[in-house]
Amino acid sequence: MNYIIFDLEWNQCPAGKEKENKRLPFEIIEIGAVKADEHLQILDRFSTLISPQVYQKLHYKVREMSKLTSGDLQNCPDFKTAVTDFLTWCGTDYRFCTWGCLDIMELQRNLQFFKVKHRFAQPLIYYDIQKLLHLSVDDGSQPLSSLSHAVEYLGLEISQPFHRAVHDAEYTLQVMQHMDFAYWSQYYSIDTYYAPSTKSEEISVTFPTYSKYISRKFSSRERAFLDREVTSMRCHICGCEMQPLIPWFSDNPRLYYGAGLCRQHGLHRLKIKVRKTFNNKTFIIKITVPTDASGIQAIRLRQEQLRERRKEKRHKPD
Ligand SMILES: [Zn+2]
Repeated sequence: MNYIIFDLEWNQCPAGKEKENKRLPFEIIEIGAVKADEHLQILDRFSTLISPQVYQKLHYKVREMSKLTSGDLQNCPDFKTAVTDFLTWCGTDYRFCTWGCLDIMELQRNLQFFKVKHRFAQPLIYYDIQKLLHLSVDDGSQPLSSLSHAVEYLGLEISQPFHRAVHDAEYTLQVMQHMDFAYWSQYYSIDTYYAPSTKSEEISVTFPTYSKYISRKFSSRERAFLDREVTSMRCHICGCEMQPLIPWFSDNPRLYYGAGLCRQHGLHRLKIKVRKTFNNKTFIIKITVPTDASGIQAIRLRQEQLRERRKEKRHKPD
């Protein structure tokens, strides 16, 4: 199996967010990628600029970052042609690697918008190298919000400018080479642009230090929370339903916390993130992490603070 490390550059509405096409807020103008073998050695490179169809002019920020001009993109292939070349170049036996989770989402949104008939096998598993790097350098210093920070932090040689797709893809590969990728790759990511449709497609994965559950789509958050599996608290180790210690409570409508106890495997803290799909359906991602008494205490404290905040709001005169 090969690794396809890819990076995209995209444009946005030059006249501002109010005037953008809501179905395509970001239009891809460059695809760059490196193909690497299982030992992370480069086999090939791919790079193409793309002539934009929706936002013909470049947003000033994009011009600044990429140093591209609208003229550079004239006479380049359109997205459909470019991405078809790219997907053919990828081959059939590969896994995507990207810096962060946005590129894989924008790729799918652009594929959908431009009606390119290509569906990746579901669930779409990939490696988010930014996440893996965070996990691997868990030393409290987190200057890794951008690829350039990470490259600097790791002391890698900076030979090419950032924010051109193929260069960023190559830097991402260098970050992979720098970590123990064979070990960290067990923390793979699952893309949710197309969330599970049916109960049988729902996803439950146990990583070494936490578990993740991705529900199917529901018509609303209320509907989702009527589902037993959505609100269940299952042990990270044995999967049994735990005794709820702190029932679900919400920080905001998109984030819920709770805690449970497995008689055999101890304390767990849980989190539910409420997400929307592109067509406004709701699904949830639930994370379960083994913890200790201080972890439970931290959740109780959070719950207390929320109660206080709500009380204050209620008593505040208008
Ligand atoms: Zn258990």
